[in-house]
Amino acid sequence: MPKYTLAIHGGAGTILRSEMTAEKEKAHQQALLEALRAGEALLEAGESALVAVESAVRRLEDCEYFNAGKGAVFTHEGYNEMDASIMCGKTLAAGGVAMVRGIKNPISLARCILEASGHVLLCGPGALQFAREQGLEEAPPEYFFSEFRYRQLQEARARGKAQLDHSQKYGTVGAVACDRHGHIAAATSTGGLTNKQYGRVGDSPLIGAGTYANDLTCAVSCTGYGEYFMRGVVAYDVSCLMEYKGMSLEEAAHHAIHQRQLALGGDGGLIAVDAKGNVALPFNSAGMYRGWVREGEEAEVEIY
Ligand code: ASP
Repeated sequence: MPKYTLAIHGGAGTILRSEMTAEKEKAHQQALLEALRAGEALLEAGESALVAVESAVRRLEDCEYFNAGKGAVFTHEGYNEMDASIMCGKTLAAGGVAMVRGIKNPISLARCILEASGHVLLCGPGALQFAREQGLEEAPPEYFFSEFRYRQLQEARARGKAQLDHSQKYGTVGAVACDRHGHIAAATSTGGLTNKQYGRVGDSPLIGAGTYANDLTCAVSCTGYGEYFMRGVVAYDVSCLMEYKGMSLEEAAHHAIHQRQLALGGDGGLIAVDAKGNVALPFNSAGMYRGWVREGEEAEVEIY
């Protein structure tokens, strides 16, 4: 029986050691470890990679430190509008949701879309209607509110820009896993950019850009400036580099982030696994909140 592997991220960006306190560092590491434990317990029990990545991402969505679920940033108009997607490497089934408000765990809505909608991507009010029909848990605006996020919005508004949350040291979340049956899956969830306008959607809900999984190659979850990740179709690019060029997981992931994204001007990183349980976690920014665990080994978390 193959061994399981799980990797997660909490966003890549300008995360500088000089701007971190020991306390903040510890809180983030703790949150990452808890998400790893939640996913690992399921893999340990023989559950699928799909179930494990959903569970790990739900944990990160419930934690206010990250820009997803409870910690989602504000749009220009002061809403929390979230994007998420999930993909199963065994069946290539996928689900994504964009611009949804008031859903506590957008990743579970993405999973419902994968399983029950007959579609791949739902957005806005229609996605909310589907979520209600499926009985997904809702949460009021107060649940998503924090002074910190609100201040971020005021600052971004004053600068007249939409900004990546990572400069504020919190980010998009994601998980990739390989289960004991040798299947892989990927999941990504985000609030997008602070002060985003005009219905802006990033790479995170888009299959191929922010998320991709195929048992034959890899499972990938990206984080960074979404416009560049969409233009580079980064998650699928890693898979293609493996499939068409015969690169290893490590080579393909490194090439996508350090060559192709840098050439485009894209800032960020990704986490990836293959069906043999190899892991790659490249980033071209100052830091990326990340963690991984392999069956029989201690979980590891790193930031810089
Ligand atoms: N990729 C996300 C977006 O552009 C942001 C992030 O990774 O934090 O919406």
